[in-house]
Amino acid sequence: MAKLLTADDSAAFEILNPTAASNLIFVADHASNKVPLALNNLGLPQAELDRHIGIDIGSAWIAAYLTARFDALAVCAGFSRLVIDLNRQPTAPSSIPDISDGTYVPGNKDLTSADRQARVDEIFWPYHAAIETAMTAVEKRGQTVILISLHSFTPVINGHKRPWDIGFLYDQDARLSQHMITTMQQDGDIFVGENQPYSGKDPQGFTVNHHSERPHRPSLVVEFRQDLVATQITAEAWADRFANAIEKSLAAALSDNCS
Ligand SMILES: [Zn+2]
Repeated sequence: MAKLLTADDSAAFEILNPTAASNLIFVADHASNKVPLALNNLGLPQAELDRHIGIDIGSAWIAAYLTARFDALAVCAGFSRLVIDLNRQPTAPSSIPDISDGTYVPGNKDLTSADRQARVDEIFWPYHAAIETAMTAVEKRGQTVILISLHSFTPVINGHKRPWDIGFLYDQDARLSQHMITTMQQDGDIFVGENQPYSGKDPQGFTVNHHSERPHRPSLVVEFRQDLVATQITAEAWADRFANAIEKSLAAALSDNCS
């Protein structure tokens, strides 16, 4: 069968800091707006790929900052969520959307099952296999692996302003999220969303459910507001505040377990 990715394409995922020592694993499902060469930018102008439907703006800078700060590994998406959404079940209609926030995606229309399967086999599963390999490697060192899923959200959707500066999403495992919400609320003027701008109880999300909730590993899902992290300088400043809160929250979670 013809392959989707060629030698001239970038990889399906990027590993930052592969020899890291930390038990934290960062993932950025929507860090890239690249499209495989064979898909001709999905028929979209670059400006569409550059906005929130194509990429979680700022998340790659945040991932890079955090891997250095914590000596941690990160797995980052190699391709845009419009090619295949790494945070959706491949069987979900939103996995390969033919319309996203009002933008029609010509390259996703009338796909054959072979077209879909190529994206699943060459992009979706290799990315998730890389995450699993990284998490298992931490466990083999005898450490408790903690998955931290990095996202960013558009400040306005369907004409509605979203007021939160940062949000934490959780489903069954709220332990780390609750410490993060409390800690960041104490950091002065931050408006922290709890299961906002989306709910972690929404069954659509795949990554944390697959790698952490099902196997009962601790996790954290964070959403940064895109206008606050739109440059490398501002993204790193928010990553720094977030990292300070992680340090405090991990210490607090540890004392919960000891008490
Ligand atoms: Zn995202």
